[in-house]
Amino acid sequence: MLELVDLHYTYPDGTSALRGVSLRIDAGEKVALVGPNGAGKSTLLLHLNGVLRPRSGAVQIAAQPISDANIRQVRAQVGMVFQDPDDQLFSPTVFEDVAFGPLHMGLEEADVRGRVTLALDQVGMRGFETRMPHHMSLGQRKRVAIATVLSMTPSILALDEPSAGLDPRARRGLIELLHSLPQAMIVSTHDMRMVAEVFPRTIVLEQGQIAFDGPSATLLADA
Ligand code: ADP
Ligand code: ADP
Repeated sequence: MLELVDLHYTYPDGTSALRGVSLRIDAGEKVALVGPNGAGKSTLLLHLNGVLRPRSGAVQIAAQPISDANIRQVRAQVGMVFQDPDDQLFSPTVFEDVAFGPLHMGLEEADVRGRVTLALDQVGMRGFETRMPHHMSLGQRKRVAIATVLSMTPSILALDEPSAGLDPRARRGLIELLHSLPQAMIVSTHDMRMVAEVFPRTIVLEQGQIAFDGPSATLLADA
């Protein structure tokens, strides 16, 4: 499904952010990505849809290395959800935000509508189509941001710190949502209680290298 092979990345200023990361995620697998600030979590996630290109090593989606030729398909297959929903929501209404991806894939209007309805259903936001994201709570905007990638029917989701800033009720709702989604996912987080509840497997990143990759229960028992 998704494979990173000996991935290295150095920012233009010389900061070495990833130093030999290899991992594989199979269909439907839910994986937490944890580690201290600056460990390289965001840098890793940005490689999964080709926003960053590796200095050396490879990123393969469905056994295909990311290239200029397949970048559009890769972006449809890997749904990237940023930490701040305001980086993802820029339309006047919820409908337009969730329809944006499928419209740009050139789908028919009826098909687009169907996808928007399904995506909003999945995140529990049906009925919000004409609402303005701008006027909604953070928890609601995060759900709509997830819907904007679900409408592209991705096979894998990459989420950066999804529970950050949520109140306990919105956080509980997010945990249930992540549980209910069938896609494979890799989710960076500092929320170890969410890890225990949602993710059977955890990868710990430290200084650009994998320090642990295994059952979350093993990691949590040692903590
Ligand atoms: P995390 O998401 O785990 O906090 P990041 O991937 O954001 O880690 O950062 C990894 C390392 O790369 C850190 O040392 C960080 O300061 C550095 N870094 C991140 N973005 C940039 C950038 N745009 N330019 C230079 N260095 C960066
Ligand atoms: P996170 O820990 O959630 O990944 P950060 O606070 O590390 O977020 O980074 C926020 C933004 O600043 C990111 O876009 C990242 O690329 C950028 N950034 C982080 N460290 C550096 C750095 N040393 N030089 C330039 N940009 C950086």
